[in-house]
Amino acid sequence: MQDTRSIPQLQDKLLCWYDAHKRVMPWRATPGQTPDPYHVWLSEIMLQQTTVTAVKPYFEKFIDRWPKVEDLAVAKVDDVMQMWAGLGYYARARNLHKCAKTIVDDYGGVFPEDHDDLLNLPGIGPYTAAAIASIAFNQNYTAVDGNVERVVARFDALTKPLSEIKLKIKKRAEELGRDNPRPSDFTQAFMELGATICTPKSPKCTLCPWQGACTGFKKQIAETLPRRKTKKAKPKRHGTVFWILDEDGRVAVRRRTEKGLLGGMMEFPSIGWDGKAEYLDGLDSMQHIQNVKETVRHVFTHFELELNIKKYNATGEAPKNAYKWYDVEELPGLALPTVMKKVLKLCTF
Ligand code: SF4
Repeated sequence: MQDTRSIPQLQDKLLCWYDAHKRVMPWRATPGQTPDPYHVWLSEIMLQQTTVTAVKPYFEKFIDRWPKVEDLAVAKVDDVMQMWAGLGYYARARNLHKCAKTIVDDYGGVFPEDHDDLLNLPGIGPYTAAAIASIAFNQNYTAVDGNVERVVARFDALTKPLSEIKLKIKKRAEELGRDNPRPSDFTQAFMELGATICTPKSPKCTLCPWQGACTGFKKQIAETLPRRKTKKAKPKRHGTVFWILDEDGRVAVRRRTEKGLLGGMMEFPSIGWDGKAEYLDGLDSMQHIQNVKETVRHVFTHFELELNIKKYNATGEAPKNAYKWYDVEELPGLALPTVMKKVLKLCTF
């Protein structure tokens, strides 16, 4: 009798399915092409916590502007942050730039192939190192992202909460990928299966190459997996953001400190919400004009933010020296995070 759960057979089925159904991605090598490690690395960093649809235009803009890792290494960090603005999780952008420099300075612009060398690069953790080693260099590593976790949890009908079985899932994913004949394609195929067939809602099991062997499907519990502990509601925070104008109608902007939330990004001065300042320098010498009726709401990973907007005129020297001043038309070109883009929209609409 045929063993539908034999690993070489599962690998073969998955790879055949991938050959027929893989999506075209701007960072993905086409048949016969060798994957470009720069493209693989850049896309993997961008795809962390971010959807393929959101990443595509950013990836294309980056590659147009900085076609090689050497180009990115000599870019100004401000330009990189500005190009990244809107993708979120900004530490990724700073590490991207640091990593490009390290590859040029320490490796002569050539990505290291060794998994441990990859792990030592800025911003590269176990997942990304495994993804680059397998996708770019065809080494037998299994990169376990959320898609792969979902497939494995369903395939083996694992009913415990995901947070308790992450390690078990990782080991099982590695077992399913072990010694497969095409590591680069296998890694991508595994993730692709989760992204397009074994989707969070309504998995398309009838189209799945692993359906005959899938325990979650057999037990008809696939869609309920992986289970999660009930999430607590996110705490709410409140703060104030200031839209400050000088006599020439220019707007006050400052750079946030490198460390912490939105580190290194530009912002309209704000207080009261991020555990930093509760009072704004120079506020006493400014003239209050109005409070904007609408508030800005933004959801971060660990909390929800509500910002009131206050408009002020700056007069004295103190505020002038404390900030950088930009014409309104220049503001969209700055490295403003999404929450500050919302402020800009409300203040200029
Ligand atoms: Fe996922 Fe369904 Fe395939 Fe099982 S059969 S791996 S649940 S898509």
